[in-house]
Amino acid sequence: MRRFDLRSLRFAEASEVWRRLPVEVDPFVYGGLDYEVPEGSVDLLLSAARVGDNVTLRAEFETAVIGPCQRCLGDADVIVSVRGVEYVRHGESEGEAEDEEGYVASSIVDVGRWARDLIAEELPPKLLCRDDCRGLCAECGADLNADPEHRHDEA
Ligand SMILES: [Zn+2]
Ligand SMILES: [Zn+2]
Repeated sequence: MRRFDLRSLRFAEASEVWRRLPVEVDPFVYGGLDYEVPEGSVDLLLSAARVGDNVTLRAEFETAVIGPCQRCLGDADVIVSVRGVEYVRHGESEGEAEDEEGYVASSIVDVGRWARDLIAEELPPKLLCRDDCRGLCAECGADLNADPEHRHDEA
């Protein structure tokens, strides 16, 4: 799913409810390269705590992000663990800034966009195949992980 209807939650006596949602996450560009989550989906745990007309939404999940190493372009993956919170009043997001677009409008939570933004916030500054990736030769593009001795003779 990409969107979740808050009106489907039944608070009944409880003031807090939990839902486990399979959320589709579109591939995204990071540092000019394409990344995705395995099978394009994350298992998002959504909690909603209600006080009167206010609902506090919390999203939590862990996922792998896969794509090219930003140094050598080989396969890389990283596990990110995210948490997000969104305040909702009368079915609308309460943005902190006026120009900030919230994730909830007319009681519909844009869980797809929310999950993607949360992942983006948690990514390391450089996504590498391994911490000590040697990258590619600046001169000829050879993979320096495969050939650590690689060098060009000074002219
Ligand atoms: Zn690498
Ligand atoms: Zn070279």
